[in-house]
Amino acid sequence: MFFPISKPSITQLEIDYVTDAVKSTWISSLGPYIDRFESEFASFCEARFGVSVANGTVALHLSLVAQGIGPGDEVIMPNLSFVATANAVLHAGATPVLVDIEPFTLCMDPKKIEASITPRTRVIMPVHLYGHPADMPAIMDIASRHRLIVIEDAAEAHGARAYGRRVGSWGHCATFSFYGNKNMTTGEGGMITTNDETLYHRLRYLRDHAMSKEKRYWHTEVGYNYRITNIQAALGCAQLARIDSLMGKRRQLYTWYQSALQGISGISLNRTQSWAENSYWLICLEVEDFDEQRRDAFMLGLKQLGVDTRPYFYPMSLMPYLQILRQVDTPVTNKTYQRGINLPTYFDLLESDITVITDAIKKHLYVK
Ligand SMILES: *Cc1c(COP(=O)(O)O)cnc(C)c1O
Repeated sequence: MFFPISKPSITQLEIDYVTDAVKSTWISSLGPYIDRFESEFASFCEARFGVSVANGTVALHLSLVAQGIGPGDEVIMPNLSFVATANAVLHAGATPVLVDIEPFTLCMDPKKIEASITPRTRVIMPVHLYGHPADMPAIMDIASRHRLIVIEDAAEAHGARAYGRRVGSWGHCATFSFYGNKNMTTGEGGMITTNDETLYHRLRYLRDHAMSKEKRYWHTEVGYNYRITNIQAALGCAQLARIDSLMGKRRQLYTWYQSALQGISGISLNRTQSWAENSYWLICLEVEDFDEQRRDAFMLGLKQLGVDTRPYFYPMSLMPYLQILRQVDTPVTNKTYQRGINLPTYFDLLESDITVITDAIKKHLYVK
Protein backbone atom coordinates (compact mmCIF):
# COMPACT_ATOMS: atom_id res chain seq x y z
CA MET A 1 0.00 0.00 0.00
CA PHE A 2 1.24 3.45 -0.87
CA PHE A 3 -0.57 6.69 -0.07
CA PRO A 4 0.49 9.63 -2.23
CA ILE A 5 0.13 13.15 -0.85
CA SER A 6 -2.45 14.02 -3.48
CA LYS A 7 -4.46 12.56 -6.33
CA PRO A 8 -7.21 14.11 -8.48
CA SER A 9 -10.74 12.71 -8.38
CA ILE A 10 -11.99 11.87 -11.88
CA THR A 11 -15.46 10.38 -12.31
CA GLN A 12 -17.63 9.49 -15.31
CA LEU A 13 -18.88 13.09 -15.34
CA GLU A 14 -15.39 14.46 -16.09
CA ILE A 15 -14.92 11.80 -18.77
CA ASP A 16 -18.29 12.66 -20.36
CA TYR A 17 -17.66 16.41 -20.43
CA VAL A 18 -14.12 16.06 -21.78
CA THR A 19 -15.26 13.54 -24.40
CA ASP A 20 -18.00 15.93 -25.45
CA ALA A 21 -15.48 18.77 -25.82
CA VAL A 22 -13.06 16.65 -27.85
CA LYS A 23 -15.80 15.23 -30.10
CA SER A 24 -17.16 18.71 -30.76
CA THR A 25 -13.73 19.61 -32.27
CA TRP A 26 -13.71 22.77 -30.10
CA ILE A 27 -10.46 21.66 -28.53
CA SER A 28 -8.59 24.95 -28.48
CA SER A 29 -9.32 28.17 -26.61
CA LEU A 30 -12.79 28.83 -28.03
CA GLY A 31 -15.86 26.81 -27.08
CA PRO A 32 -18.93 26.73 -24.88
CA TYR A 33 -17.28 25.16 -21.82
CA ILE A 34 -15.00 28.19 -21.40
CA ASP A 35 -17.78 30.77 -20.93
CA ARG A 36 -19.72 28.35 -18.78
CA PHE A 37 -16.70 27.60 -16.56
CA GLU A 38 -15.94 31.29 -16.13
CA SER A 39 -19.45 32.31 -15.16
CA GLU A 40 -20.08 29.29 -12.94
CA PHE A 41 -16.76 29.66 -11.15
CA ALA A 42 -17.32 33.39 -10.60
CA SER A 43 -20.73 32.77 -9.06
CA PHE A 44 -19.26 29.97 -6.91
CA CYS A 45 -16.83 32.62 -5.59
CA GLU A 46 -19.63 35.18 -5.15
CA ALA A 47 -17.77 37.42 -7.61
CA ARG A 48 -19.18 39.14 -10.72
CA PHE A 49 -16.62 38.03 -13.30
CA GLY A 50 -14.22 35.18 -14.02
CA VAL A 51 -11.35 35.16 -16.52
CA SER A 52 -9.84 31.72 -17.16
CA VAL A 53 -6.12 31.47 -17.86
CA ALA A 54 -3.45 28.82 -18.47
CA ASN A 55 -2.40 28.37 -14.82
CA GLY A 56 -2.32 30.03 -11.40
CA THR A 57 1.07 31.65 -11.93
CA VAL A 58 0.04 33.56 -15.05
CA ALA A 59 -3.23 34.45 -13.29
CA LEU A 60 -1.07 36.35 -10.79
CA HIS A 61 1.13 37.85 -13.51
CA LEU A 62 -1.83 39.00 -15.62
CA SER A 63 -3.53 40.51 -12.54
CA LEU A 64 -0.40 42.57 -11.87
CA VAL A 65 0.31 43.81 -15.40
CA ALA A 66 -3.39 44.54 -16.08
CA GLN A 67 -3.32 46.91 -13.10
CA GLY A 68 -0.13 48.62 -14.24
CA ILE A 69 2.24 47.03 -11.74
CA GLY A 70 5.83 46.94 -12.98
CA PRO A 71 9.42 48.06 -12.34
CA GLY A 72 9.84 50.20 -9.23
CA ASP A 73 6.64 48.91 -7.60
CA GLU A 74 6.57 46.86 -4.41
CA VAL A 75 4.16 44.03 -3.63
CA ILE A 76 3.70 42.94 -0.02
CA MET A 77 3.18 39.19 0.48
CA PRO A 78 3.73 36.55 3.19
CA ASN A 79 7.16 34.91 3.42
CA LEU A 80 5.50 31.48 3.65
CA SER A 81 3.96 30.56 0.28
CA PHE A 82 4.58 28.57 -2.85
CA VAL A 83 7.30 30.41 -4.74
CA ALA A 84 5.00 31.22 -7.71
CA THR A 85 3.57 34.10 -5.64
CA ALA A 86 6.94 35.87 -5.63
CA ASN A 87 7.93 34.74 -9.13
CA ALA A 88 4.85 36.31 -10.72
CA VAL A 89 5.80 39.65 -9.17
CA LEU A 90 9.38 39.30 -10.45
CA HIS A 91 8.08 38.42 -13.95
CA ALA A 92 6.15 41.70 -13.88
CA GLY A 93 9.42 43.50 -13.06
CA ALA A 94 8.16 44.51 -9.61
CA THR A 95 9.65 43.67 -6.20
CA PRO A 96 8.20 41.25 -3.64
CA VAL A 97 8.35 42.45 -0.02
CA LEU A 98 8.05 39.55 2.40
CA VAL A 99 6.28 39.84 5.74
CA ASP A 100 5.76 37.40 8.58
CA ILE A 101 2.81 35.04 9.13
CA GLU A 102 0.46 34.48 12.06
CA PRO A 103 1.32 31.17 13.77
CA PHE A 104 -2.35 30.20 14.16
CA THR A 105 -3.54 30.53 10.54
CA LEU A 106 -0.17 30.41 8.71
CA CYS A 107 -1.39 33.40 6.67
CA MET A 108 0.12 36.88 6.41
CA ASP A 109 -0.04 38.75 9.72
CA PRO A 110 -1.99 42.01 9.14
CA LYS A 111 -0.18 43.59 12.11
CA LYS A 112 3.13 43.24 10.25
CA ILE A 113 2.00 44.89 7.00
CA GLU A 114 2.13 48.59 7.79
CA ALA A 115 5.79 48.56 8.83
CA SER A 116 6.64 47.30 5.32
CA ILE A 117 4.71 49.97 3.41
CA THR A 118 6.91 52.48 1.55
CA PRO A 119 6.10 55.14 -1.06
CA ARG A 120 6.70 52.41 -3.67
CA THR A 121 4.15 49.95 -2.29
CA ARG A 122 1.28 49.37 -4.72
CA VAL A 123 -0.17 45.95 -3.89
CA ILE A 124 -0.91 43.68 -0.94
CA MET A 125 -1.03 40.04 -1.99
CA PRO A 126 -2.39 37.81 0.79
CA VAL A 127 -2.18 34.02 0.31
CA HIS A 128 -4.93 31.76 1.71
CA LEU A 129 -2.40 29.13 2.71
CA TYR A 130 -3.33 25.43 2.74
CA GLY A 131 -7.01 26.45 2.56
CA HIS A 132 -7.23 28.91 5.48
CA PRO A 133 -8.39 32.38 4.43
CA ALA A 134 -6.23 35.37 5.31
CA ASP A 135 -7.76 38.01 7.59
CA MET A 136 -9.38 39.92 4.72
CA PRO A 137 -11.25 42.70 6.59
CA ALA A 138 -8.00 43.75 8.32
CA ILE A 139 -6.07 43.61 5.03
CA MET A 140 -8.76 45.50 3.06
CA ASP A 141 -8.79 48.17 5.76
CA ILE A 142 -5.01 48.71 5.55
CA ALA A 143 -5.20 48.74 1.74
CA SER A 144 -7.92 51.36 1.62
CA ARG A 145 -6.15 53.61 4.12
CA HIS A 146 -2.97 53.48 2.01
CA ARG A 147 -4.73 53.34 -1.39
CA LEU A 148 -3.25 49.96 -2.30
CA ILE A 149 -4.53 47.24 -4.62
CA VAL A 150 -5.34 43.84 -3.08
CA ILE A 151 -4.76 40.69 -5.15
CA GLU A 152 -5.74 37.52 -3.29
CA ASP A 153 -3.64 34.47 -4.12
CA ALA A 154 -6.44 31.94 -3.63
CA ALA A 155 -4.67 29.11 -5.48
CA GLU A 156 -5.07 26.83 -2.45
CA ALA A 157 -8.46 27.86 -1.14
CA HIS A 158 -11.34 27.28 -3.59
CA GLY A 159 -14.55 27.72 -1.61
CA ALA A 160 -13.01 28.90 1.67
CA ARG A 161 -14.80 31.72 3.49
CA ALA A 162 -13.75 34.58 5.74
CA TYR A 163 -16.55 36.13 7.81
CA GLY A 164 -19.09 34.21 5.74
CA ARG A 165 -17.82 35.57 2.44
CA ARG A 166 -16.00 33.46 -0.16
CA VAL A 167 -12.35 34.05 -0.97
CA GLY A 168 -12.08 35.48 -4.47
CA SER A 169 -14.70 38.14 -3.73
CA TRP A 170 -12.70 40.33 -1.31
CA GLY A 171 -9.80 41.85 -3.23
CA HIS A 172 -9.70 43.99 -6.38
CA CYS A 173 -9.18 40.61 -7.94
CA ALA A 174 -8.18 37.10 -6.87
CA THR A 175 -6.34 34.26 -8.56
CA PHE A 176 -6.93 30.51 -8.49
CA SER A 177 -4.98 27.47 -9.70
CA PHE A 178 -6.47 24.26 -11.10
CA TYR A 179 -3.23 22.30 -11.06
CA GLY A 180 -3.67 18.54 -10.57
CA ASN A 181 -3.13 18.58 -6.82
CA LYS A 182 -5.42 21.52 -6.00
CA ASN A 183 -8.94 21.32 -4.48
CA MET A 184 -10.37 21.13 -7.99
CA THR A 185 -8.43 20.64 -11.19
CA THR A 186 -8.40 21.17 -14.94
CA GLY A 187 -5.00 19.46 -15.34
CA GLU A 188 -3.28 22.81 -15.70
CA GLY A 189 -5.36 25.95 -15.47
CA GLY A 190 -6.19 29.07 -13.56
CA MET A 191 -8.82 31.76 -13.05
CA ILE A 192 -8.99 35.41 -12.04
CA THR A 193 -12.16 36.60 -10.30
CA THR A 194 -13.11 40.24 -9.92
CA ASN A 195 -16.07 42.53 -9.32
CA ASP A 196 -14.51 45.29 -11.44
CA GLU A 197 -15.95 45.37 -14.96
CA THR A 198 -13.17 47.54 -16.41
CA LEU A 199 -10.51 45.23 -15.02
CA TYR A 200 -12.44 42.21 -16.34
CA HIS A 201 -12.34 43.56 -19.90
CA ARG A 202 -8.67 44.48 -19.61
CA LEU A 203 -7.75 40.98 -18.35
CA ARG A 204 -9.59 39.34 -21.26
CA TYR A 205 -7.91 41.65 -23.72
CA LEU A 206 -4.36 41.12 -22.43
CA ARG A 207 -4.91 37.35 -22.15
CA ASP A 208 -5.54 37.17 -25.89
CA HIS A 209 -2.54 39.02 -27.39
CA ALA A 210 -4.06 42.46 -26.59
CA MET A 211 -5.95 42.32 -29.85
CA SER A 212 -8.21 45.25 -30.65
CA LYS A 213 -11.92 44.44 -30.30
CA GLU A 214 -12.87 46.72 -33.17
CA LYS A 215 -10.09 45.86 -35.56
CA ARG A 216 -8.90 42.25 -35.71
CA TYR A 217 -5.13 41.65 -35.78
CA TRP A 218 -4.48 45.21 -34.64
CA HIS A 219 -2.39 45.50 -31.46
CA THR A 220 -1.35 48.63 -29.56
CA GLU A 221 0.58 47.03 -26.68
CA VAL A 222 2.33 43.81 -25.64
CA GLY A 223 -0.21 41.13 -24.89
CA TYR A 224 0.01 37.49 -23.83
CA ASN A 225 -1.33 34.11 -24.79
CA TYR A 226 -2.55 33.00 -21.38
CA ARG A 227 -5.69 31.17 -22.57
CA ILE A 228 -7.14 27.88 -21.33
CA THR A 229 -8.60 25.24 -23.69
CA ASN A 230 -12.23 24.16 -24.02
CA ILE A 231 -11.10 20.64 -23.00
CA GLN A 232 -9.65 21.95 -19.74
CA ALA A 233 -12.76 24.06 -19.15
CA ALA A 234 -14.92 20.95 -19.68
CA LEU A 235 -12.96 19.20 -16.94
CA GLY A 236 -13.41 22.32 -14.78
CA CYS A 237 -17.20 22.36 -15.31
CA ALA A 238 -17.43 18.74 -14.20
CA GLN A 239 -15.32 19.39 -11.09
CA LEU A 240 -17.43 22.43 -10.29
CA ALA A 241 -20.61 20.36 -10.59
CA ARG A 242 -19.10 18.10 -7.89
CA ILE A 243 -17.60 20.88 -5.77
CA ASP A 244 -19.85 20.36 -2.73
CA SER A 245 -18.84 16.74 -2.52
CA LEU A 246 -15.14 17.53 -3.21
CA MET A 247 -15.15 20.13 -0.42
CA GLY A 248 -17.18 17.98 1.94
CA LYS A 249 -14.72 15.11 1.59
CA ARG A 250 -11.81 17.34 2.61
CA ARG A 251 -13.66 18.40 5.76
CA GLN A 252 -14.41 14.73 6.44
CA LEU A 253 -10.70 13.84 6.05
CA TYR A 254 -9.82 16.51 8.59
CA THR A 255 -12.33 15.08 11.07
CA TRP A 256 -10.95 11.56 10.61
CA TYR A 257 -7.34 12.69 11.07
CA GLN A 258 -8.31 14.76 14.09
CA SER A 259 -10.12 11.98 15.90
CA ALA A 260 -7.35 9.47 15.14
CA LEU A 261 -4.62 11.80 16.44
CA GLN A 262 -6.38 13.52 19.34
CA GLY A 263 -4.84 13.37 22.77
CA ILE A 264 -1.24 13.20 21.50
CA SER A 265 0.67 16.03 23.13
CA GLY A 266 2.99 18.33 21.21
CA ILE A 267 1.24 18.06 17.86
CA SER A 268 -1.46 19.99 16.08
CA LEU A 269 -3.43 19.78 12.85
CA ASN A 270 -4.85 22.70 10.79
CA ARG A 271 -6.17 25.41 13.10
CA THR A 272 -9.16 27.42 11.94
CA GLN A 273 -10.28 30.83 13.20
CA SER A 274 -13.88 31.10 14.42
CA TRP A 275 -14.58 33.54 11.55
CA ALA A 276 -13.16 31.22 8.89
CA GLU A 277 -14.31 28.26 6.82
CA ASN A 278 -11.22 26.25 5.92
CA SER A 279 -11.16 24.47 2.55
CA TYR A 280 -8.39 22.12 3.77
CA TRP A 281 -6.30 22.02 0.61
CA LEU A 282 -3.83 19.89 2.54
CA ILE A 283 -3.98 18.42 6.01
CA CYS A 284 -1.20 20.04 8.05
CA LEU A 285 0.59 18.30 10.91
CA GLU A 286 2.87 20.37 13.13
CA VAL A 287 5.14 18.78 15.73
CA GLU A 288 6.32 21.22 18.39
CA ASP A 289 9.84 19.92 18.85
CA PHE A 290 10.67 19.44 15.17
CA ASP A 291 13.55 21.13 13.46
CA GLU A 292 14.37 20.51 9.82
CA GLN A 293 16.48 17.46 10.58
CA ARG A 294 13.97 15.72 12.84
CA ARG A 295 11.20 16.55 10.39
CA ASP A 296 13.07 14.99 7.47
CA ALA A 297 13.83 11.84 9.46
CA PHE A 298 10.14 11.57 10.40
CA MET A 299 9.08 11.96 6.77
CA LEU A 300 11.54 9.30 5.67
CA GLY A 301 10.17 6.92 8.31
CA LEU A 302 6.63 7.47 7.03
CA LYS A 303 7.72 6.96 3.45
CA GLN A 304 9.17 3.55 4.38
CA LEU A 305 5.72 2.65 5.70
CA GLY A 306 4.11 3.71 2.41
CA VAL A 307 2.94 7.17 3.46
CA ASP A 308 3.97 10.10 1.29
CA THR A 309 4.19 13.50 2.98
CA ARG A 310 5.74 16.82 2.13
CA PRO A 311 7.30 19.59 4.17
CA TYR A 312 5.73 23.03 4.58
CA PHE A 313 7.04 25.51 2.02
CA TYR A 314 10.46 26.95 2.80
CA PRO A 315 10.42 30.67 3.60
CA MET A 316 10.85 32.37 0.24
CA SER A 317 13.52 34.60 1.80
CA LEU A 318 15.79 31.51 1.98
CA MET A 319 15.81 30.95 -1.79
CA PRO A 320 19.27 31.90 -3.10
CA TYR A 321 17.93 33.99 -6.00
CA LEU A 322 15.62 35.91 -3.66
CA GLN A 323 18.39 37.00 -1.31
CA ILE A 324 18.52 40.25 -3.28
CA LEU A 325 15.20 41.26 -1.71
CA ARG A 326 15.05 43.68 1.19
CA GLN A 327 15.79 41.50 4.21
CA VAL A 328 12.97 41.28 6.69
CA ASP A 329 12.75 39.64 10.06
CA THR A 330 10.13 36.87 9.93
CA PRO A 331 10.70 34.85 13.12
CA VAL A 332 7.32 33.07 13.04
CA THR A 333 7.83 31.88 9.44
CA ASN A 334 11.41 30.79 10.17
CA LYS A 335 10.33 28.65 13.11
CA THR A 336 7.00 27.34 11.79
CA TYR A 337 8.18 25.97 8.47
CA GLN A 338 10.48 23.47 10.18
CA ARG A 339 7.70 22.01 12.30
CA GLY A 340 5.14 21.26 9.66
CA ILE A 341 4.36 18.62 7.08
CA ASN A 342 1.35 17.90 4.89
CA LEU A 343 -0.41 14.54 5.02
CA PRO A 344 -2.19 12.62 2.22
CA THR A 345 -5.32 14.63 1.36
CA TYR A 346 -7.45 13.40 -1.52
CA PHE A 347 -11.00 12.38 -2.38
CA ASP A 348 -10.52 8.61 -2.64
CA LEU A 349 -9.12 8.15 0.88
CA LEU A 350 -11.26 5.98 3.15
CA GLU A 351 -11.52 6.09 6.93
CA SER A 352 -9.59 2.80 7.06
CA ASP A 353 -6.78 4.45 5.04
CA ILE A 354 -6.61 7.26 7.60
CA THR A 355 -6.24 4.61 10.30
CA VAL A 356 -3.26 3.08 8.48
CA ILE A 357 -1.68 6.51 7.94
CA THR A 358 -2.21 7.72 11.50
CA ASP A 359 -0.92 4.42 12.93
CA ALA A 360 2.29 5.03 10.95
CA ILE A 361 2.44 8.56 12.35
CA LYS A 362 1.98 7.36 15.93
CA LYS A 363 4.62 4.68 15.51
CA HIS A 364 7.23 7.18 14.33
CA LEU A 365 6.33 9.92 16.78
CA TYR A 366 6.95 7.60 19.72
CA VAL A 367 10.29 6.32 18.41
CA LYS A 368 12.55 9.17 19.45
C1 LIG B 1 -0.29 26.28 -6.88
C2 LIG B 1 -0.01 27.69 -6.46
C3 LIG B 1 0.26 28.70 -7.40
C4 LIG B 1 0.54 28.44 -8.84
O1 LIG B 1 -0.40 27.78 -9.54
P1 LIG B 1 0.03 26.99 -10.90
O2 LIG B 1 -1.30 26.67 -11.49
O3 LIG B 1 0.80 25.80 -10.48
O4 LIG B 1 0.81 27.94 -11.75
C5 LIG B 1 0.39 30.00 -6.94
N1 LIG B 1 0.29 30.30 -5.63
C6 LIG B 1 0.07 29.36 -4.70
C7 LIG B 1 -0.02 29.77 -3.27
C8 LIG B 1 -0.06 28.01 -5.08
O5 LIG B 1 -0.23 27.07 -4.16
